[in-house]
Amino acid sequence: MNTIAQLGLATATLVALSGAGASSSRKLTVVATTPDLAALAKAIGGDAVEVKALAKPTEDPHYVDAKPSHIVTLNRADVLIEGGAELELGWLPPLLESARNDKIAAGSPGRIVASQGIGMLEVPATFDRSRGDVHPFGNPHFLLDPLNVKLIVARMAEHFALVDPKAAELFKANLKTFDAALDVKLAEWQKQLAPYRGAKIVTYHQDFVYLAERFNLEVVETLEPKPGIAPSPAHLAKVIATMKAKNARVILVQPYQNRRTAETVARQTNAVVLDVPQQPGALKNTDTYFELMDYIVRTVATALQETK
Ligand SMILES: [Zn+2]
Repeated sequence: MNTIAQLGLATATLVALSGAGASSSRKLTVVATTPDLAALAKAIGGDAVEVKALAKPTEDPHYVDAKPSHIVTLNRADVLIEGGAELELGWLPPLLESARNDKIAAGSPGRIVASQGIGMLEVPATFDRSRGDVHPFGNPHFLLDPLNVKLIVARMAEHFALVDPKAAELFKANLKTFDAALDVKLAEWQKQLAPYRGAKIVTYHQDFVYLAERFNLEVVETLEPKPGIAPSPAHLAKVIATMKAKNARVILVQPYQNRRTAETVARQTNAVVLDVPQQPGALKNTDTYFELMDYIVRTVATALQETK
């Protein structure tokens, strides 16, 4: 006679086995922590994948509102793509623990850490999270540099093929198409921003450094004194002085940042506040990486032209 405990175990095994059997015909379930990674996964996975993002386009990727539905989503995932470098430290680890899914365990083909292999900017000389800095391993907002995206999509294609070998050719073809399109777009974006070489910008959070580096802009100040630390009056006074001294007249903000703080600074520096979401889908017609970058480059270039 089976005990109840044994029966329970047998049922769980059967459910797991039937799930594995069904996977030969179904699409790969890919979960990305943020919409930008999800958009890239869709481009590479095409019809062979079903992609979900945990964070909303209007949510701060450092502080996502963790929900029970996220645990279910992670439990059913074949692949998890995370930004890494502690971008999701505040919310992802407990969700993963509850999801109990070996397929997306660290180090398995079903786990992709986007930051691996990226030349990280602003890596601190000493590791110190004690003062609240949310970038202890360097700056995790690296997708605004298209060359970083190239590395990440290549890794997605590799991992997808390991998890779903029968679709390997499709992933390879999609990667090739994406790469070719990215080369064309990168040249366009560089041309659009070329007249503003060395232009000075201010951002709320330290989240545009990779864009600045690739396209030769300079982030002269951030409204936050440190990543993740709210602006203080003393710090904002310093920001205003720097902006006046360096004639920086563009402030970039994201949907989840305090626009009123940016507006207060802008009033005292004759600057403009630009809404520049980094997540696809936060604004209309920015659902793909290309559409999003088109929007960002156009918005920044226009503002730099008008404040020249
Ligand atoms: Zn950050």
